[in-house]
Amino acid sequence: MAGRRLLILGGTTEAAALARALAEAGEWEVTTSLAGRTRAPAALPGAVRIGGFGGANGLAAYLRAERIERVIDATHPFAASMSANAAAACAEVGVPLLRIERPAWTPVPGDRWIDVADAEAAADWLTGALPAGAAVLLTLGRQEVAPFKRCPTLRFVLRSIEPPAPENLPPDCLLLSERGPFTLDGERALIGRHGIRAVVAKNAGGDATAAKLGAAREAAIPVVMIRRPTPATAPAVPDVAGALDWLSRPR
Ligand code: NAP
Repeated sequence: MAGRRLLILGGTTEAAALARALAEAGEWEVTTSLAGRTRAPAALPGAVRIGGFGGANGLAAYLRAERIERVIDATHPFAASMSANAAAACAEVGVPLLRIERPAWTPVPGDRWIDVADAEAAADWLTGALPAGAAVLLTLGRQEVAPFKRCPTLRFVLRSIEPPAPENLPPDCLLLSERGPFTLDGERALIGRHGIRAVVAKNAGGDATAAKLGAAREAAIPVVMIRRPTPATAPAVPDVAGALDWLSRPR
């Protein structure tokens, strides 16, 4: 008999880990949905569908057509539109929804974090705080880089999985196309090699990309930390174990 149908909204290590954990048990027939931003996503067990649903209404139609019994929103903490659509669509169709909400990073003694709302505010802070020619490490997605064009006197090192469109790049920008996890030794070396004076990061949470925070602390340089968008209103667990527990319970 076919398993019960589960939709995982993916694009994160948690989503992939959940799909792998469920593949072994076989109770759920899993489809992972990806936005299609990464050209060569890592292989996943179960079915994979790629591309947007067409807003909350499109997702609701998909849930009905595919007879999905539960949805796990394992998207990135900054994927706020997808999470809001998931909450609206699941409420409309009456499908139980759980969110995996990776805990945010919090500063520890020795950290110098500048809390900002978005990339525009990060760029404004850099312009006011750093001298011309100072080097800044941007650890952001390719779609968040354009605001730094307003800092033409700074030197940027951008680390992202996919390269941004050339017209979105600040004038002096070195591209590093790399995917985590990153080590403390590696981050220390990166900061030293480029003479980095500040790091810009999103508060993604998790271990894979946290080493830059320790390296910035050691180097006594600021981290301009973009805070998370307001989370959608869905019940949440912090990790894959919590999601497996939720799936094991009757609805
Ligand atoms: P977003 O702004 O919340 O989503 C924009 C639109 O992209 C959504 O309305 C939806 O289109 C489509 N979409 C997003 N996630 C999808 C998914 N898993 N499956 C199918 N369609 C999806 O999201 P985003 O910040 O661009 O992130 C896109 C994807 O990258 C997400 O899957 C997320 O987990 C992953 N990711 C994001 C970040 C980040 O920093 N934002 C970092 C790492 C990974 P429709 O309205 O047409 O359905």
